[in-house]
Amino acid sequence: MSNTPVRTRFAPSPTGFLHLGGARTALFAWAFARHHGGTFVLRIEDTDLERSTPEAVEAILQGMAWLGLDADEGPFYQMQRMDRYREVVAQMLEAGTAYRCYSTPEEVEAMREAARAAGRKPRYDGTWRPEPGKTLPAVPEGRQPVIRFKNPLEGVTAWNDLVKGPISIDNGELDDLIIARPDGTPTYNFCVVVDDWDMRITHVLRGDDHVNNTPRQINILRALGGELPEYGHVPMILGPDGEKLSKRHGAVNLMEYDVQGYLPEAMVNYLARLGWSHGDDELFTRAQLVEWFDTRSLSKSASQWDPKKLNWVNAHY
Ligand code: GLU
Repeated sequence: MSNTPVRTRFAPSPTGFLHLGGARTALFAWAFARHHGGTFVLRIEDTDLERSTPEAVEAILQGMAWLGLDADEGPFYQMQRMDRYREVVAQMLEAGTAYRCYSTPEEVEAMREAARAAGRKPRYDGTWRPEPGKTLPAVPEGRQPVIRFKNPLEGVTAWNDLVKGPISIDNGELDDLIIARPDGTPTYNFCVVVDDWDMRITHVLRGDDHVNNTPRQINILRALGGELPEYGHVPMILGPDGEKLSKRHGAVNLMEYDVQGYLPEAMVNYLARLGWSHGDDELFTRAQLVEWFDTRSLSKSASQWDPKKLNWVNAHY
């Protein structure tokens, strides 16, 4: 993929303010795109209707503007792409890479329980999974199916993570993922795959809380015939005490630092340095960050938020 122009994206779920971890992920994806003269795409993952709010979208846009992370394309909103997801679901049904599953949630839970009791991984037992020569049960009257992805049963799904190195998962560990609900709405992992595919994303840099989603997304993308992006999973930011960064460590909302008078250039410098390094350089300009940025120098382990260091950096601007 080395000759393909670089395209990265930041894909926040607008469920609250832009927190420091999200801001740093956005910064890395932006710096990577800028370093390679590529394209930085902003995508708002707003399909969780109960938790997504317009105020959160505003806060994300505001935070990115404050840091100077200008998107070349977007914002694209997943809620405006529903027709496209439905179209791809229909194509997959047609191609046989997805199937209608009429098992109820209670039945699936019972299957999982039975697998657990037999000492196996809890998973859907494939009742409705079509196989050559297999006769499927009669469709229960009046029941709306979910659509499941026909995940490969054998082999491993592997990728060379830009941050963590080689990762591989047995396909047998992955369930036949639900890609559309009974009302036809697509599910989270599926939307991400269709978007990364349609938006021709070449490098996915995101938080390592998504590592488990990656093999699922890779398998779906392969079934669609899409070219795989490279994936890099950035470890999280912890508090100075090594616990998950939270309010008791100070503000976790990026924009509170604006209110407190911190300079955006200092925040860019500090956030970048937290989880990425360029030799011993502690102070660098945005232009230097863009010039020097590479994924090889991203830290493999979690970083610790250090308010004193932030103040020190801020004092130098
Ligand atoms: N929307 C996801 C989040 O905010 C990110 C998904 C992704 O980067 O693939 O955690």
